[in-house]
Amino acid sequence: MTNETGAKRDFTRGTWFVLLWLGLSSSVFGRELLTFDGPLKDLVTPLSKSRLEAWNTDEATSEDRDPTPQGRALRLTAPAGGGFVTNADVVTVDWPKVESLGLWLHRTAAEAKEHPTVELELRLIEDDRKAYFWRRVEVAHVGWQKLLLPLDWFVWSEGRIPRWEKVRYVGFRLRDDGAVTIDTLWSEPAQAPRDEFTPAELVARVAFPQQENKLSDDKPAETESVRTLETRDVQLLTNAKPLELERLAAQCGLVAKQMRSELPFLTEPARGPLLFVFQNAAEYRRFVPRLARRLNAQLEAPESTGFTLQGVSSSSWDEEYGSLRPVFVHEFVHGYLCRASRFPCHGEWLHEGLATYFQLKFHPQANLREVVAKGIASAKGHVPLSELCNGRHIALGHYWQAGTLWQMLLSEKRYQPHLATLLERLEAANSTDLGPHLKPVWDTDWNTLTADWRAFCERRFAQ
Ligand SMILES: [Zn+2]
Repeated sequence: MTNETGAKRDFTRGTWFVLLWLGLSSSVFGRELLTFDGPLKDLVTPLSKSRLEAWNTDEATSEDRDPTPQGRALRLTAPAGGGFVTNADVVTVDWPKVESLGLWLHRTAAEAKEHPTVELELRLIEDDRKAYFWRRVEVAHVGWQKLLLPLDWFVWSEGRIPRWEKVRYVGFRLRDDGAVTIDTLWSEPAQAPRDEFTPAELVARVAFPQQENKLSDDKPAETESVRTLETRDVQLLTNAKPLELERLAAQCGLVAKQMRSELPFLTEPARGPLLFVFQNAAEYRRFVPRLARRLNAQLEAPESTGFTLQGVSSSSWDEEYGSLRPVFVHEFVHGYLCRASRFPCHGEWLHEGLATYFQLKFHPQANLREVVAKGIASAKGHVPLSELCNGRHIALGHYWQAGTLWQMLLSEKRYQPHLATLLERLEAANSTDLGPHLKPVWDTDWNTLTADWRAFCERRFAQ
């Protein structure tokens, strides 16, 4: 407890510092990151229309139930969209070794009356500021509140997938008009270095909540219903009794091998992605919104037979297909790509096209020829490639187009040799919008690419 002795000697910090420590878990002491002492402009930069003030709390000593900060705090007043970001090198921390981010939030009674609920977004931002992790916080209290936010449940930003080792800045953004006062950011160290992705044990608690209850009731016989298997390429979890885990894991291994061979520039992940197979479709459909809620985000139950959220793939058992259901391959490809690359996984052409392409490779579809022939026969049968590949979500009905486009890119001499360059550029651009890269990468345009794709489809799929 040498740290505590040091803090007691440090009278410039005041007694709250010691109190704060007592309030935290006795086994782990947090590391202070930011206290807002010193000129604010040296520490943080406001976003537009945002007012930042140094604030000396007058309520600091009035509460004794929990430690409260007594140092100088930062008051943020801004319209929706306002906020601030820490300056370079103000927060230096090895994020993969941090379990949670802690902070104090204060609101006066008057502020709470004017804006009863204010949504705040905390952002942990990469060095080039293009990708970040975020966590939504609902502020509805009066007085001080201590927040402890586990990093495993932060959400990826929309563009490329963020990486913890690249995080350099902390940002606060108001989603509503309002004012909040923030004091002392600290980090709670992890027991062991955290995995880049939320570990299977934590997601499993969200996936099988009844299992969790059973575990706490200490009934080992009933806990046997959830089985897991981890291989080099996948982490499988299921409560579907008939599922043959070894068989599915072996297929995922073959898919991963195929992906590494066709996309050799991918980084092989340290561990395979999580793939949950629920015993029925209803359980799977309930899981996706529940996982989103754990991330403090919102998602409707999916319409599709499989879904990948933040690299966590899920689907369900179907008697008709058995242990090798085509959608398992599809979702596995999403999960694998999330770990092997940083491309956004929000249902855009890149992810959906590759997932479809590999799914069809392992589970050829009898009517594909017909679908493609009909699709390219008229302008109404397909969307223009410029629209398909604009980096936004694509409809299920267009997956065949993205899949056949990838088939061409991966096999045609004109395109294949430049794929590594293309993927590098897309990652740097933080978007999978293909348009800006056609000329520099392939010296082509939408018309030529479309003509090539149509000719390719006619050759491969014409009846
Ligand atoms: Zn998909």
